[in-house]
Amino acid sequence: MSNQIEQLLEKLTLEEKIAMIHGSGLFQTGGVERLGIPPLKMSDGPMGVRKEFYNDSWKPIGNSDDYVTYLPSNGALAATWNRELAYQFGEVLGEEARGRGKDVILAPGINIKRSPLCGRNFEYMSEDPYLISEMVVALIRGIQQSDVAACVKHFAANNQETNRHTVDVQLEERAFREIYLPGFYAAIKRGEAYSIMGAYNKLRGEQCCHSKGLLNGILRDEWQYDGVIISDWGGVHDTIEAAESALDIEMSVTRNFDQYYMAQPLLKAIQDGEIDVQLIDDKVRRILQMMQKLNMLGGQRKAGCYNTSEHRQIALEVAREAIVLLKNDENRLPLQPDKLNKLLVIGDNAERLHSNGGGSAEIKALYEISPLMGLKSKLGGNTEVLYARGYYAPENNNKHNGQVEGDANKLNEQQRLAEIETLQTTMRSEAVKLAAQVEQVVLFIGLNHDYDVEGKDREDMLLPYRQDELIEQVLEANPGTVIVITAGSPVDMNRWIHKAKAVIWNGYNGMEGGNALAEVLLGIYNPSGRLPETFPYRLEDCCAHSIGEFPGNQKVYYDEGVFVGYRHYDTHHIKPQFCFGHGLSYTTFEYGALEVAVDEHKIVISCQITNSGEIEGDEVVQLYVSDLNYRNLGKPEQELKGYEKVGLKPNESKRVTLTIERSELYYFDSKIEACTVSDGAYEIRIASSSRDIKGRAVIDIAY
Ligand code: BGC
Repeated sequence: MSNQIEQLLEKLTLEEKIAMIHGSGLFQTGGVERLGIPPLKMSDGPMGVRKEFYNDSWKPIGNSDDYVTYLPSNGALAATWNRELAYQFGEVLGEEARGRGKDVILAPGINIKRSPLCGRNFEYMSEDPYLISEMVVALIRGIQQSDVAACVKHFAANNQETNRHTVDVQLEERAFREIYLPGFYAAIKRGEAYSIMGAYNKLRGEQCCHSKGLLNGILRDEWQYDGVIISDWGGVHDTIEAAESALDIEMSVTRNFDQYYMAQPLLKAIQDGEIDVQLIDDKVRRILQMMQKLNMLGGQRKAGCYNTSEHRQIALEVAREAIVLLKNDENRLPLQPDKLNKLLVIGDNAERLHSNGGGSAEIKALYEISPLMGLKSKLGGNTEVLYARGYYAPENNNKHNGQVEGDANKLNEQQRLAEIETLQTTMRSEAVKLAAQVEQVVLFIGLNHDYDVEGKDREDMLLPYRQDELIEQVLEANPGTVIVITAGSPVDMNRWIHKAKAVIWNGYNGMEGGNALAEVLLGIYNPSGRLPETFPYRLEDCCAHSIGEFPGNQKVYYDEGVFVGYRHYDTHHIKPQFCFGHGLSYTTFEYGALEVAVDEHKIVISCQITNSGEIEGDEVVQLYVSDLNYRNLGKPEQELKGYEKVGLKPNESKRVTLTIERSELYYFDSKIEACTVSDGAYEIRIASSSRDIKGRAVIDIAY
């Protein structure tokens, strides 16, 4: 095996080696035909395989053969808390990538959600490294079943879009080790990701894509990673640094491929004796090793496939489990389809298709079921479904509302704003008038990919397009209105949440998202999603914002340290709007007594869970651990250390057993600059969410 690689290395000329380590197209490297080495073909991304572009331009080819299965976003997937589904999601992504002839799929995105404002939060999973780790391992394993490499991204501390190419993240080692690195560590060690993508930003002064500290130090030396390190597109800024770092492939966004830092300039640096060719051999060797694992250098390679009905079924299953029921006073939900003569659907998000937006995560979806279509198709002819847009969401790209937008563009800015204002008022009053006349309203609000988008962060958490006014007025006209929020990040709900009886959270949920929502609204599926991030009341509650360190300037100081997400809210007693792990069900669950056994290696926790309601449902049993000495050690008040999703029929009971290795209780001790587990008392908490603790037990750990 490795003989083959060494032989190839001997035969390769320097020019051929250089061709293999940089883009020779926007999404492929150079191959060496005479030696049977193919180029590496790559594609975004996390929600499905992206459309085809010309090799040297960002113009889409525009054929009809690159429509694909549009999967829920990573944020939605994480809300399922279902490892098996993450694996199946990965299988779909891998098979489709392979089916489209790709070698590397530029996914998943696992950066920590440090602030609700990050434009790419929808592409990322969670604020919690444990949940990320569990989901990403399964996802990568699923992807790589198809002889396709996952490319986990963006390494590391890429948590904002503002100044993303230049911002220099200042971060103390402890937070780095406890919050920002574990997901990547799991992806590499347990997920065995064949490749990893560098980040655009700098970290402690070093450009991440060619940082010796990050790539050589942590990835290669410490973690012994032998996979391929690929730059983010345009993330390389220096030939010598890139060559000397452990970066293997430089990719970029421009078509001057020969002028890339690791192209002609590198060849010259080698010829001038500035760079040892050995460094290039190492890179080529790792690329060849990956090709070998993918059966690209001979052997039987899997063919993959795309757009199968099985794939669409998995997209639907993930979408269902990703929906989070935030609030359900008076059991407003589910709706009773039999008794529903007339249903009024309001909101741009009921009708909008989200697949073709967001930046590199955009998808050319084979189809996308909107919530309005999902509801109509499930309700059938006995229920009259009315629709009012309710608010005007002007598009940056003029795709919808083309006429209005086109006309508005001709006017000067002031007139344009006045025009929009009038439209908002007209749409709102039409919707409110109708709302007062019907028995049931479902109001679809939130964001879209003009806000949840690569390259820019939101300015605040407020809902755009005057939606707060619409919601308040609709709730006044029809107090039983059900609200569905579609967005990739938390939004400010302060003006109306206390008046709303039922509220659903829905991430960008893939091609079957509208069907999944209809199933949840109509009680065909009992919701089981749980929030993978905290929804704060207001932005200032989030630690990064309370200390004025988002998005920073040229430098951004992560001075909140490990107090990200619930670690901050819980330790500092700040009440969130909806806590981490929250999500309601149409049934109820009872927790039996907590049993805990400790031995020298592990802690085994078990508990009987019973479905005490009348319908089948899934509970996500969560396990939090609190070091009772947390204050002295500067630890968060509690941390997620385990979970299990369990399905139960009415009256059914199951015993859930969760195991924590003692070593998982580690924290990074800055004094000794290493991870360690402290002796002493820990409280084990079995919970239905981070704020709904069902059972506690104190254990003592001594080494
Ligand atoms: C993004 C990556 C993406 C790459 C290729 C970059 O701008 O940050 O996530 O994979 O483009 O499209």
